[in-house]
Amino acid sequence: SKVILLQKRPAGKPVLTDFEFKNESVAQPGKNELLLKTQYVSVDPYLRGRMSDAKSYVPPFKVGDPIQSGIVAEVTESNHPDFKEGDFVSGNLDWKEIQVSDGKGLTVIDKEAASPSAYLGILGMTGLTAYLGLTEIGKPQKGETLVVSGAAGAVGSVVGQIGKILGCKVIGIAGSEKKIALLKDKFGFDEAINYKTTEDMQQAIKDAAPEGVDIYFDNVGGEISDAVLANINKFGRVPVCGAISLYNNTEVSLGPRVQAILVKNSALMQGFIVSNFADKFPEAIKTLTTWLKEGKLNYTETIVEGFDEIPQAFIDLFEGKNEGKMIVKV
Ligand code: NDP
Repeated sequence: SKVILLQKRPAGKPVLTDFEFKNESVAQPGKNELLLKTQYVSVDPYLRGRMSDAKSYVPPFKVGDPIQSGIVAEVTESNHPDFKEGDFVSGNLDWKEIQVSDGKGLTVIDKEAASPSAYLGILGMTGLTAYLGLTEIGKPQKGETLVVSGAAGAVGSVVGQIGKILGCKVIGIAGSEKKIALLKDKFGFDEAINYKTTEDMQQAIKDAAPEGVDIYFDNVGGEISDAVLANINKFGRVPVCGAISLYNNTEVSLGPRVQAILVKNSALMQGFIVSNFADKFPEAIKTLTTWLKEGKLNYTETIVEGFDEIPQAFIDLFEGKNEGKMIVKV
């Protein structure tokens, strides 16, 4: 069975030769173990951080070890009381076609309630990030203006829709005309700005939000965020979810840039990782599931087929090739 290892730490933008494919023989599951067949693999921007050796909130991958990410797998053999053959489980697993697990950290998913891949997106890590980052830090109030960057991605598309459900005016920023149309037509955003074709982002945001920005949900960092923050309102809130525009930089300048804007507006900027809110996951999943059932929430996935395509799908995140959640179907 195939496994994908980290061959070397990417320098700048990841490339295919940073990854290595190997064949390994599959062990038999022992007592209290199960055999898993990978079905869906989540590729995520944060994995780029784990491929570097810088200290972070999750330890770096070791060179020569399998990469891990969120995976939905089928239980094909079980010697574990909590799992049976035919169950679908989700959890953080190795990039392997087949693997043995002790069941720790795995959750049996309900295949009838939603498609299995949804548990890697809207009903998984990215849905939770959107919901909890927005409600716990953004604290949206009816009538406020919310700007989301990375708006057509897995997190961003959900943030914008929740903003609409909670009564905000929502403006999305994304990188293609197709994504701009998707934001307005499928996800109900009030305005959408293509950062790749807009000369003056600061002015474009001002035009879209003449009343100013109350909440900026930041997925990208860098110059896009500078332009939004220049329009932040008094007592504005800025949940800092990610900074994908900077992940491949070998040097990031950390000089003072937005402090004066924050002071002037008494604005709050707060970074977070979704696991900070782990105690709220059950409640959040319940709400997301209800909104999905009621048709208030939509989602899109970009599904790439084939185990061998996992590294390329990951690399493509940095080219914006995905709409909604990027997933590999094995
Ligand atoms: P997405 O589905 O949003 O995919 C990444 C998207 O980022 C691409 O489609 C692309 O869209 C955009 N992008 C890529 N490069 C750039 C760039 N240089 N400048 C601006 N946009 C760029 O991924 P996720 O929804 O999974 O993640 C979104 C963000 O949230 C990431 O920063 C991620 O690290 C973060 N995150 C944080 C979590 C937390 O706990 N704090 C948990 C999960 C995610 P486009 O075509 O618009 O450029």
